Amino acid sequence: MNLVCELEKCTGCGMCSNVCPKNAIEMSEGERGFVYPKIDKNLCIECNLCRNKCPSNVFQATETNVKKVYVSWNKDKKIRKNSSSGGIFTEIAKKIIEQGGVVCGVAWNEEFHPHHILVNRTKDISKLQGSKYSQSITGDIYKLIKEKLDKGILILFSGTPCQNAALKSFLGKNYQNLYSIDLVCHGVPSNKMLDNYLFLFEKDIQNVRLRHKDPFWDYSFVRIDFKDGTKYQKLTIEDDYFNLFNVGFTLRNSCHNCQYANTNRKGDIR
Ligand SMILES: Cc1cc2nc3c(=O)[nH]c(=O)nc-3n(C[C@H](O)[C@H](O)[C@H](O)COP(=O)(O)OP(=O)(O)OC[C@H]3O[C@@H](n4cnc5c(N)ncnc54)[C@H](O)[C@@H]3O)c2cc1C
Repeated sequence: MNLVCELEKCTGCGMCSNVCPKNAIEMSEGERGFVYPKIDKNLCIECNLCRNKCPSNVFQATETNVKKVYVSWNKDKKIRKNSSSGGIFTEIAKKIIEQGGVVCGVAWNEEFHPHHILVNRTKDISKLQGSKYSQSITGDIYKLIKEKLDKGILILFSGTPCQNAALKSFLGKNYQNLYSIDLVCHGVPSNKMLDNYLFLFEKDIQNVRLRHKDPFWDYSFVRIDFKDGTKYQKLTIEDDYFNLFNVGFTLRNSCHNCQYANTNRKGDIR
């Protein structure tokens, strides 16, 4: 058997490649540019750890009765403006770092692919601010987080609900020094889709903001700054990438049947 879980159910969380004791699993580009696990048969010892821990195999979607909801937003207007929603992520991240902790969230890499990174300086929180609407590369992040948790380091993890489920499954036990945030998630397009969109501008890119709130937030804007000093800015409802994301056309298959789109999710904070 060469699959970790049914392809339709695979969220691309990358947990299997972290949990494999033989490093036999690599996340590689498959259908429509989404990443899927690829098992190296020569290295695999058929221990089945990947299959037994895969959240898509073990997670059962259920509803819990939510008794109380606390809602919050950042009082700092500037932080709210640079965040995709109410900016509470930045506030929580600051508190964790002030206590000597490490924050794990999603930043753009040089190719404008979102990837999970760890930051321990307040000034680096801004890299994680703002929604990057394509699937983040998780790499070895679950392993790195476990290493830090085992040393007693305080950690804040932020990611999609499936990535939160992946982290919890990977860890296999509760850690008092871990706080986790799962975002309200519409689903993810692939990085290939984003690449194809950005390529059409035929310019070197300085920065990409997919939910820019200037001059106003009501619909928000896609804003791309180019290295030659020019910029592209369109209302999200008029931008092709955002529209295809919004109507669900570019989402990963598993997102259309998301097991975490309910009240019983794995993050501590939403
Ligand atoms: C793929 C995706 C789908 C979303 N769908 C919806 C939706 O349907 N409805 C809705 O109301 N809001 C949606 N959001 C927005 C999300 O709920 C907001 O990021 C959050 O509400 C903003 O929080 P904030 O203002 O506190 O902080 P922000 O500063 O905006 O926080 C950004 C946080 O999002 C994380 N993040 C950014 N990009 C990614 C990514 N690609 N994968 C995982 N984590 C990421 C960062 O690590 C950081 O923690 C989506 C976001 C993403 C990334």
